[in-house]
Amino acid sequence: MSIAENLSKIKSALPPHITLVAVSKTKPVVDLMEAYNAGQRIFGENKIQEMTEKWQQMPKDIQWHMIGHVQSNKIKYMIPYVHLIHGVDSSKLLKEINRLARKWRKKIDCLLQIHIAEEETKFGLNEQELDEILKQVQHDQQGFENIRIVGLMGMATFTENQEQIKREFLHLKTIFDKQSQTSTVNCQLNTLSMGMSGDYQLAIECGSNMVRIGSSIFGSR
Ligand SMILES: *Cc1c(COP(=O)(O)O)cnc(C)c1O
Repeated sequence: MSIAENLSKIKSALPPHITLVAVSKTKPVVDLMEAYNAGQRIFGENKIQEMTEKWQQMPKDIQWHMIGHVQSNKIKYMIPYVHLIHGVDSSKLLKEINRLARKWRKKIDCLLQIHIAEEETKFGLNEQELDEILKQVQHDQQGFENIRIVGLMGMATFTENQEQIKREFLHLKTIFDKQSQTSTVNCQLNTLSMGMSGDYQLAIECGSNMVRIGSSIFGSR
């Protein structure tokens, strides 16, 4: 099947309140253009340099999402155009995004990445660290004037065990529901980014409202 066919099949099965991020990392611009021409306007990349090169070459009505681990020294390249940063997992990073966003007089939307998988290797905050960052942002509105925390992101363990994946997603949903009760100008949680090609249906059942789908659209990498 073509990229356009894959996209339309996935989109027609998604409930209307779900935002689809087409994860295009490692794929060439022609592939992204095929998705664009089929109507897709939200793309996710995991490397700032690659995303910036694609941004330069592609139409400017695209929303670019950074879904990978963010390196501080590269943040400056995406500040002019990035729409949402999914993988923020420290207040140091948040401060640096805020500092650079201020230079551009912008407000940058961020998701905090939560560690829900059993694997050691996945990035992310635990609940206590999340609590601390949210308190910091909510209490220091001037210090974080140029960012907005708009939600949470998480990745389940890479396993065939559906029960385990479900448990991890539900855990994140519980954290999200609890934290989305408080809201300040720079911190209002309404986006829950969870679910990839292999597990997005389950993620949606567990309360996700943003899915990041790569290989099911663009083919394997
Ligand atoms: C690569 C990637 C995806 C998409 O993975 P697929 O299995 O190809 O859908 C989603 N989220 C993150 C953070 C990724 O790095």
